[in-house]
Amino acid sequence: MQETTGAVPEYPGDDGVTDDFGLAGVPDAFQRLWTPHRMAYIKGGQHQFKNVDDCPFCVAPEREDDDSLIVYRGRTSYVVLNLFPYNPGHLLVCPYRHIPDYTDLTVEETAEFAELTQTAMRVLRKVANPTGFNLGMNQGVTGGAGIAGHLHQHVVPRWGGDGNFFPIIAQTKAITQTLGEVRQQVAEAWPQTTAGATDAE
Ligand SMILES: [Zn+2]
Repeated sequence: MQETTGAVPEYPGDDGVTDDFGLAGVPDAFQRLWTPHRMAYIKGGQHQFKNVDDCPFCVAPEREDDDSLIVYRGRTSYVVLNLFPYNPGHLLVCPYRHIPDYTDLTVEETAEFAELTQTAMRVLRKVANPTGFNLGMNQGVTGGAGIAGHLHQHVVPRWGGDGNFFPIIAQTKAITQTLGEVRQQVAEAWPQTTAGATDAE
């Protein structure tokens, strides 16, 4: 049991990184939105993501979907559940190529990157009925990217009032334990591009 001390909730690893990343307690909705995501990767040790071999977005497609939390594999990009979601269903659209910047995408990659972002929104609307979304790419460490070396687009479903309590429960195991279920739900709702493929149910 935890006592209520009235102190600001801390994330594991806060002590070592808070100052360096200037995570101030300014009541800014946008900052609150991304901070848990950043903290989660920081506490995992951002230093370990310096090259392609260690890059989680390069490694993920090499693993089974259940393990990597991938919900869909496209031709040039894939969609994966954020391991450290701000909200349930927080998806990331990632190119397979280890490129850092949006301008590095080829025309073909750009098209599919956008298409998968749209489909992610449609699928989330279908399975979770969010009332809003935040889409975005943090470019560079200065721009807030937890993994700056590998481009990724955030697709964050929003529900009214979620900003008030999700930063708190995102620290708990509750979300982590349901990641597998969320992945399966999103993956099953993802439209199949193969001709004739339809959902069984
Ligand atoms: Zn990578």
